[in-house]
Amino acid sequence: MTKYIIVAGGVISGVGKGVTTASIGKIIKEYGYSVTAIKIDPYLNYDAGTLRPTEHGEVWVTDDGGEIDQDLGNYERFLDMEIPKINNITSGQIYKTVIDRERKGEYLGETVQFIPHIPDEIRRRIKESSKGYEFAIIEIGGTIGDFENLPFLFAMKGMEREIGKENIIYILVSYMPVPEHMGEMKTKPTQQAIKLLSESGIFPDFIICRSLSPLDDIRKKKIETYANIPSDYVISEPDIDTIYRIPLDLEKESLGYKILSELRMKLRKRPTFRSWKELVKKIISPSKKIRIALVGKYLDIGNFSLKDSYISVNESLLHAGASLDVGVEIEWIDSKKLEKENAEKMLEGFDGILIPGGFGNSGVEGKISAIKYARENGIPFLGLCYGLQLAIVEYARNVCTLKDAHTTEVDKDTKNPVICILNSQKNIMENHDYGGTMRLGAYAATLKKDTKVLSLYRETGRLKEDREKLGNYKKSEQFRLGKMEDDSNVVLERHRHRYEVNPEYVSRLEEKGMVFSGCHIMEDGTSLMEYIELPQHNFFVATQSHPEFKSRLGNPSPLFYGFIKACSEKK
Ligand code: GLN
Repeated sequence: MTKYIIVAGGVISGVGKGVTTASIGKIIKEYGYSVTAIKIDPYLNYDAGTLRPTEHGEVWVTDDGGEIDQDLGNYERFLDMEIPKINNITSGQIYKTVIDRERKGEYLGETVQFIPHIPDEIRRRIKESSKGYEFAIIEIGGTIGDFENLPFLFAMKGMEREIGKENIIYILVSYMPVPEHMGEMKTKPTQQAIKLLSESGIFPDFIICRSLSPLDDIRKKKIETYANIPSDYVISEPDIDTIYRIPLDLEKESLGYKILSELRMKLRKRPTFRSWKELVKKIISPSKKIRIALVGKYLDIGNFSLKDSYISVNESLLHAGASLDVGVEIEWIDSKKLEKENAEKMLEGFDGILIPGGFGNSGVEGKISAIKYARENGIPFLGLCYGLQLAIVEYARNVCTLKDAHTTEVDKDTKNPVICILNSQKNIMENHDYGGTMRLGAYAATLKKDTKVLSLYRETGRLKEDREKLGNYKKSEQFRLGKMEDDSNVVLERHRHRYEVNPEYVSRLEEKGMVFSGCHIMEDGTSLMEYIELPQHNFFVATQSHPEFKSRLGNPSPLFYGFIKACSEKK
């Protein structure tokens, strides 16, 4: 039977529940158990695909094409596994399922009500996602006290009755503020969060306290008295230099061992975290440092900027850096402020330029200027998704002299639509509503011999890894593989886009020296360009995919690895 670990957050949002959940999963896995993680998002959106990234951070894409809250990314990175879209449960999905079922007559005769139908469906979904795992960690989004997360807490309490308290524990991740005018760490908000949680009949087994600095014994005792749990079950999680240190810090308080004992589980293995510790050390004190310009768009909300919109890109740069013993300093360049005239001034001194994914027309000319600057000045360049599309636009305009070349996403009537919507995508868009009309999830690409891209996938071991996965796709998911002549140079990356390189321009770009180093051939025979590179440049590579979704600490994404290596060598 699966053991459940429920993680809920108190006091403020953004307290770090996601990374804490991922860290707990990592710890339990290190003890030798199989672990999965589930994210509950109490909003009514069916999935995260239609959310604004400046509010919610990045949209994470799963292998099976789910558009999900970014926390799933942390789970995949820490647990080193591919998590399917069913592991994200939103209120929207729960209500839709119940209402669809009612319409089909599946509850015929019954009054369909909030209780029991909604909590029943929540538990059904949780059981489905956790099937086959020894542990399931469930993070309940939002903050204790929100109306929205009540049904989920109620469902968990029901689960406790059903499976027995020895099979489920609750962890409250709370926040301990240190108001500047007092200079003292306050426990009161946490006490109130405990009280609010108790209104759902839930008493936390552990309290993990996020704070500026470690918790002292006095504060731990105070919480012990209030929450009625031993003070050694009050765990300190202070701010630190890298999130990858969190599992190590939590283990200093033997969190894994304590959780296992609470759930009546034995130690299967003593964790060492050996290679993880070494990588963390390289993140904290690398032998060398480089500076990367991340030229993006979603950079501000009001007076604050949210760096979470590119969190996976960020993490991928760090992963590649850790493997190469190079520290990566990321600087955020707002593409709206970049123009032809100031590109040199704004980008001078960087060791590499990265253009991540994006949508729409704002800041597009700035990104194109940055690409031109990187190409003409031999600065290592990595383009992801929109980054590839705009690299094609730049090359078409400035090298192939198609002055008005553009993507039809920005200029519908351009005479040279080098990036456009292909018929196959048009059909999907006509048949769907707005949600889920992109090319989503993993797709195979066959890499061309003697290219930099192929050599990087080979060097990092990813070519072999992906090849082994090809056989795992179910019949209904075969479209992800498309047509391939042989599978020796096939790789899999995740996608999230509507537009493609227009096949009519490929030979013109090739004549001027651009190499299309990988493509996907759809079942109807259409070729989709997946990778480009410029052989005469020290590192100018872009991909239509989002390789940042498959990068792990200790197993970096091949293109990021190549990019950081080139940046570091150039320096
Ligand atoms: N806007 C582009 C498209 O839809 C690129 C998307 C992206 O970068 N994820 O094709």
